Amino acid sequence: MSLDDIIHSHAARKPDPAARMREDGTVYIIYTSGSTGDPKGVPISQKNLLSFEGWMRDAFPFSPEDVVLNQAPFSFDLSVMGVYPAFLAGASLWTADQALIGKPKLMFEAMSRSGLSVWISTPSFAEICLMEPSFSEKLLPRLRMFLFCGEMLPSRTVRKLMERFPGTSIVNTYGPTEATVAVTSIIVDSNLLAVNPQLPVGTCKPDCRIRIWDEEEREVREGEKGEIVICGPSVSYGYFANDEKTSGSFRSINDRDLGITRAYKTGDLGYIQDGMLICCGRIDFQVKLHGYRIELEEIEHRLRELPGVKSGAVVPHWKAEACDYLTAYVVPDEPPVSEVDTVSGWKTLLAERLPAYMIPRKFVLRPALPINGNGKLDRKRLQQEEAL
Ligand code: AMP
Repeated sequence: MSLDDIIHSHAARKPDPAARMREDGTVYIIYTSGSTGDPKGVPISQKNLLSFEGWMRDAFPFSPEDVVLNQAPFSFDLSVMGVYPAFLAGASLWTADQALIGKPKLMFEAMSRSGLSVWISTPSFAEICLMEPSFSEKLLPRLRMFLFCGEMLPSRTVRKLMERFPGTSIVNTYGPTEATVAVTSIIVDSNLLAVNPQLPVGTCKPDCRIRIWDEEEREVREGEKGEIVICGPSVSYGYFANDEKTSGSFRSINDRDLGITRAYKTGDLGYIQDGMLICCGRIDFQVKLHGYRIELEEIEHRLRELPGVKSGAVVPHWKAEACDYLTAYVVPDEPPVSEVDTVSGWKTLLAERLPAYMIPRKFVLRPALPINGNGKLDRKRLQQEEAL
């Protein structure tokens, strides 16, 4: 029996109204380990999902002609950005599963026949694809939009994508699983790249608000850094069967615009400038080194801008529970003739942009950085290697 026959054979049956899902009913639970490695189930209600889906439909509408890439495994909520909006628009979903991603030659062959028009992935996955020279407008002539979420979008990746896909728009979105996939967005164009060394993650969807709190949970002034807090109907009620973790990160607040609403403390450091959110990375990626408070992602951002650097990550080296020094894991564009000279050149350039205490002492050159099952940079693995 074909799918059409099955659907038509049920056409006359009306769903039982009593079986209808309520707005507080759970649509899915996705487990997130966050950066601390302790898995927590995030229940997303119908209300949460409709808030996300309605925003996607207004801001980035898909059509029945669209073919949408879903790179994320279904256990990672980035997949929600493809699955629900694509099906609700009658678009097709083109999933790249782990087996295909592991065989790049087959994957690019399959992509060339895919007719992809919308790309949804982590920036790390796009970076892997950029290693393949044929990954360009010629391979994907219908591609009209890149939608990124899940980790920092480096300017360098954007520049390369703009060269290879000059007619395709690039959108950076930001959000945690706890606030249903993404709550902010921005179209990244060359003007934005020219003005902002660190790409903003954009403005908040209309039914939610981003607030920046200090450690006492008081809102800070515009431009000041603090914890990014998301308020509104996208925010889950809390972690599944885990009151302790729920009370650590979720609040019911009286927001000045939204009234009584749910709020989620993201654990991300950020600030608002000209109405746009800048995400500076995880608060727990801050380390104290010889008394200085250092944001590892700020160093990484500078590192990735250096000539000859394809990508990089910075990991603290611990000694007796204190950070002793920083190690930079770097993927060079090409293997350098002299590693010593190249590293010393990078250190000199970094010194022009960063204070001396932020310059990694050790540099380890690698052909690639580890990527976890969700397609994000695998910091835990680097940290384990650093501890050996
Ligand atoms: P997850 O719950 O696995 O989707 O991870 C959410 C976390 O990923 C956020 O709290 C941020 O730390 C990070 N993240 C997501 N999107 C972005 C982005 N566009 N830029 C920087 N960090 C991001």
